[in-house]
Amino acid sequence: TERLLQKSEKLALLGQMAAGIAHEIRNPLTSIKGFIQLFKSNQLQDEYYDIVLSELERINDIVGEFLVLAKPSAAVFVEQDVKVLIKDVVTLINTQSILNNVQIFFEYESDLPMISCEENQLKQVFLNLLKNAIEAMPGGGNIEVKVMAKGEGNVSIQIVDQGVGIPKERIHTLGEPFYTTKEKGTGLGLMTCFKIIESHNGELTIHSKEKEGTTVEIMLPTITQKLLSKELSFKH
Ligand code: ADP
Ligand code: MG
Repeated sequence: TERLLQKSEKLALLGQMAAGIAHEIRNPLTSIKGFIQLFKSNQLQDEYYDIVLSELERINDIVGEFLVLAKPSAAVFVEQDVKVLIKDVVTLINTQSILNNVQIFFEYESDLPMISCEENQLKQVFLNLLKNAIEAMPGGGNIEVKVMAKGEGNVSIQIVDQGVGIPKERIHTLGEPFYTTKEKGTGLGLMTCFKIIESHNGELTIHSKEKEGTTVEIMLPTITQKLLSKELSFKH
């Protein structure tokens, strides 16, 4: 019965997500349709092409984020060095950060313990968080990424920006689907991050101060810690 329950809960969540996504995609589709009709009647203006393109991009972003969530069944967990994953992501996002006058500083302890993770999912988390940090600093600034061992069994990853920050009364909204303050946002990035970190038995916390900046901290169990807790749950 426990498995059945979980399954029906998952289906309910999927239904909610699908309804939300259908709703979010319908807006840009309606506006694209309108512009195509204008094109047909030859009332063309160059800027319309850009609007159509950005609306299409928005749909693409929404579908892309949804796919990350919909595919966890294919997850393969492997032993990984988390700083290597982060380095890859920082390289990936480097052009975007340079274009936005943002510098990313990366610090890590030597001899970090290994973690067990689904590599692509975790990269997606770092990518979403770094994107948010860059987008929070429209005038440019610095991002610090720090990786350190915490206690016996955890690795902590902190992403610190000097951006606009998040109002106190909004902190609890973070991670809800489609909550966005950005014109071109999907409001799915943080939700995806929370889900992925949860599936890694980790924790994601956000501290923020308006006009000062935001710190996102991720705690992930080290590979030995994960094995230990598995052994314990077998014994019960
Ligand atoms: P999106 O980036 O598409 O808006 P997210 O789920 O990634 O969706 O983020 C939701 C909202 O949370 C953002 O629109 C923004 O208001 C807020 N937010 C997230 N990260 C930060 C950050 N580092 N600094 C300030 N605000 C943030
Ligand atoms: Mg985002």
